[in-house]
Amino acid sequence: MMIPFLNLQKINQPYEAAFAEKTKKLFDKGWFILGDEVMQFEHDFARFCRVPFCIGVGNGLDALILIFKAYIALGKLQKGDEVLVPANTYIASILAVIHNDLVPVLVEPDLDSYNLSVASLEEKITDKTKAILMVHLYGQMSEAEDMLRFARERQLLLIEDAAQAHGAVSGDYIAGSLGDAAGFSFYPGKNLGALGDAGAVTTHDALLAEKIRILRNYGSEIKYQNKLLGFNSRLDEIQAAFLNIRLPYLQEDNHLRQIVAHRFLTEITNFKVTLPKVENRAAHVFHLFVVRVADRIDFQAFLLKNDIQTLIHYPIPPHHQKAMTAFRKLVLPVTELIHQEVVSLPMSPVLTEEEVSRIIDVVNRY
Ligand SMILES: *Cc1c(COP(=O)(O)O)cnc(C)c1O
Repeated sequence: MMIPFLNLQKINQPYEAAFAEKTKKLFDKGWFILGDEVMQFEHDFARFCRVPFCIGVGNGLDALILIFKAYIALGKLQKGDEVLVPANTYIASILAVIHNDLVPVLVEPDLDSYNLSVASLEEKITDKTKAILMVHLYGQMSEAEDMLRFARERQLLLIEDAAQAHGAVSGDYIAGSLGDAAGFSFYPGKNLGALGDAGAVTTHDALLAEKIRILRNYGSEIKYQNKLLGFNSRLDEIQAAFLNIRLPYLQEDNHLRQIVAHRFLTEITNFKVTLPKVENRAAHVFHLFVVRVADRIDFQAFLLKNDIQTLIHYPIPPHHQKAMTAFRKLVLPVTELIHQEVVSLPMSPVLTEEEVSRIIDVVNRY
């Protein structure tokens, strides 16, 4: 039996009946945009992230784009300002900067955490640096308090790309509460996934929250009165309804991921496979379990022959993408090494003990 990389049917199945009931209510009510479900989700997710404000939006990329747009509208950022961003992130983080006419400055990540480290930021700071976009890649918040202190000392905005880190913690902080604002994605495969595209912004900043609330809805608070040049990026009622059903189980799901990760970390003993370095296993939410292998193609083929599906996050670094020719000449050896060697093992709250044992056995036999 093939172990799929991600079994979304099995992940979503427990919520099917409750969702069918809610769908029926939505049909009866006939209200599909910015209604009670979105309001409830915004309230509950803000509480989950321990912040006063959450704004539901269309997807994770829009969440990040709207954060920058709102800071520009507030006069805290302007065209041409530089934003430090990890060079190995998913392209969405960098697009959010570029689509606001801000300048992404790609910074090499730490090879152990795959995230930015304070040590690597200092040399990238110029007069134009105005913000840091930190990404909690694969589900881990790294150097959270140091990062916050660094940003505060230099009066930089600290923005979190928390699309892979719902519920991740570091010290006193939970993802979404560390910086000035955070963008979340509820893409179906994320730790908290919807049944389509969905996203949210969390923030402590009332003014920012107000701007984003207006920008996501055509620049309007009162129907047909437009204060700003806005967008249409609203969280749908139907997606919010599903997220409201799933949110109470997020902590438990993350815990189940941690149990799987704990077994991988203790039982995979193959010296050809570099395991992730995890500072605190109870703080990482393991959106992905990423290992490094020198001959990745061979490793993936061996696993597939043994009925285990793997994926790569991500195969091409952003600065080598066709869409990003401006960065083509950059030399980023850590980032390039990561993109050549990473492989993601199956990881989800619905893997059975037997499946986990099989994955461990096959990886150890490679
Ligand atoms: C998924 C993801 C996004 C984008 O989210 P979408 O909802 O797909 O737009 C942004 N950043 C990171 C790190 C992601 O993993």
